Formats: sequence, structure tokens, C-alpha cells
Amino acid sequence: MFEPFWKEVGDDATVKISGWEKMSYTSSCDDDICWFLEPEFANEVARLHRIVNNAATDGRYIIVGVGSTQMIHATLHTLASIELRHPVNVVSAAPYYSMYPGIVDLMKSGLYHWAGDAAAFRGDDNFIELVCSPNNPDGTIRHAMLGKEAGKRVHDMAYYWPQYSPMRGPADHDIMLFTLSKATGHAGTRIGWALVKNKEVAREMAKFITLNTIGVSKDSQVRAATILKVISDGYEFPKPNGAPQFFHFGQHKLADRWRRLRRAVQVSGQFSLPRFSPEFCEFFKEYAETYPGFAWLRCEDQKINDCEDFFKRINVLTRSGKHFGVGQEYVRISMLDTDANFDVFIKRISSLD
Ligand code: PMP
Repeated sequence: MFEPFWKEVGDDATVKISGWEKMSYTSSCDDDICWFLEPEFANEVARLHRIVNNAATDGRYIIVGVGSTQMIHATLHTLASIELRHPVNVVSAAPYYSMYPGIVDLMKSGLYHWAGDAAAFRGDDNFIELVCSPNNPDGTIRHAMLGKEAGKRVHDMAYYWPQYSPMRGPADHDIMLFTLSKATGHAGTRIGWALVKNKEVAREMAKFITLNTIGVSKDSQVRAATILKVISDGYEFPKPNGAPQFFHFGQHKLADRWRRLRRAVQVSGQFSLPRFSPEFCEFFKEYAETYPGFAWLRCEDQKINDCEDFFKRINVLTRSGKHFGVGQEYVRISMLDTDANFDVFIKRISSLD
């Protein structure tokens, strides 16, 4: 979805790394916690968070990972290692990000295991709650569901950026995960990062990444730094020719897509979508709508038992609610595909009435 923006940016976002550069494993910085963190990447992460004002970075440790997927593994391993009783229960409120159960149970770790929907959790304080906010799949703002004094919390903030959701000021949770995939669209660069309050937790997370992948691609971090810099420069040093600014571009495009989808859904009368009230956005400095990266669509027609299967018949690939811990009357549909694919999707859903 963001490709046209980056095409327009052109060479400012192009990265050139010579054959002799960044060849070895050597430390990227003097940081004794995260030795593989490229300083220019760390600086641009902190700078963008400051500009958007979506997360506190002062006094936090930045840990970089191979996407936020590796950060989730690192976080679970770290938090569970410092818990006393194993296995620790890992929960998230349904509908939860469909990859969580697979990620949690992948290692068949003796330290932790997937324990399902946080709302149904009846255990004691031996848990880690994954709090995804704004939530994948339904775009809602989430708060930890289980007791604040007990257990541990990880805040997955992949979608807490202005194109998706009004900014409500800087989040300051103990562990916050972000990813380039959703912030800028560069999923293939495989860069995610964590902002961590506690030094020992940060150290353990970095140790996990050292033993798991001996650090994180320096090339990718350099590319990520360049991409983030272009976005920040666009706001701190706007071009006189009115060149597009990234979050404005993203919000505008998502607004248009959501308008078209809502119209098609209304005309068909067979589905429903979540509704959101406008809220004041601290970044755009005006009331803004919520435009999630996914449409969480419910088939309202009682005759449709399996919504995913229903969409398959009109050649629209969706992900069934059953993967998110709820029923198959729900499906998740990506709003972030290319313009051409999104047009086809709207055409097909409009052909249903
Ligand atoms: N968390 C959430 C909520 C996500 O939606 C995704 C990507 N779909 C990830 C984590 C993983 O992102 P990454 O590409 O950085 O591994």
C-alpha cells in the first residue's frame, strides 16, 4: 500500500552499501547491552518516536530484532526465564493476533506455553499477557486485562502509528514492541525493535538475539535508518514543493479504502464492520478516525456458517476468525495490499448484492 509513496520519494530513500562495508560480526556500537544495534538506526528510532510522540524513549533501552516476531520470542524467553514457576502461561485477549499461539508454542519450551484467551484465564499470577494495541485483527485500543500487580505484560504496538489510529500521547509500558513492517511498509527488511524499561530485561533480550541469530543484519538496520529518516525529515524539514508526508499519505489512503469498503458492505447488507468514534490525534492535532490495517468483518447472514469459505468462493482470500480465538462467522481481510489488489477486492465484494 505504501509503495507509491516510496516511489515518489525516489533516491532519498535508496541505500548503497559497498561490498567491503559492514562485513563482519563486530560490535556496531559501544553499548554494553545491545552490541549489534547500529547507532544510526537507534537514533532514527528515537527521533521518530519523539516526532510522533507515540512512545517514551528517554531512559529506555532499544533492542533490535529480526522483525517484531523475533522480539516476541526474545521477550517471552526473557520474562519466563526470570519467572520462578515454569511453564508460565502466555495469554492474549481474543480476538488475538493469530500468530501468537504458534509463536509461543513453536519451541515447545519448558519455560512457557500458550494458554489462550486472557478473558478466560483462571490461573494465578503466573502469566504473561500479550497486549496488542491497536489490536490485530479488530483495530481496537487494548489495555491489559489481567491484574496489574501480578504477572507480566508485553505491549505489541505494531499499529500505534498515525495512519492507523489517533495518537493518544506517548505510551510508557515496561516492554513495547514496534516493527518496520507496519510503521513504514518495509516488512521484507525484517526489522523490529523493543523499548525496554528494565536494564536486566533488556540485557537478557539482547542475549537471546545474540545466541539466536548473532545479532541482526547491519544492512537491514542501515536501510531501516534511511527509511525512518526520510519520514522524520518530511516532518522536521518539509519540502517547499509540498512533497507528500508519510503519515498523511498513509492516513489519506486508508481513509479512502475504508470509505469504499464501508460503502460496499452497507450496500450488500450481509456483513458488519467495527465502528470507531473520532478521537483527538496528538500528532495531526485534530480529530481523526481509526483506520485499522485489517478489516474485521462479520458475516451477518445466518445461512453463512463459514465466512472464510464464503469469500473463497468469490476468490477473496481471508483469514478465519477461528485462528484468532473466535468463531468462523468472522474473517480478517488485509487493508494494506497493493492498489490493484484492493480494487479487485472491492469489485468482488460489490458484486455480491
Ligand atoms: N505483531 C503484530 C500484531 C503483527 O500484526 C505482526 C505482523 N503481522 C507482527 C507482530 C510481526 O511483525 P514482523 O513483520 O515485524 O515480524
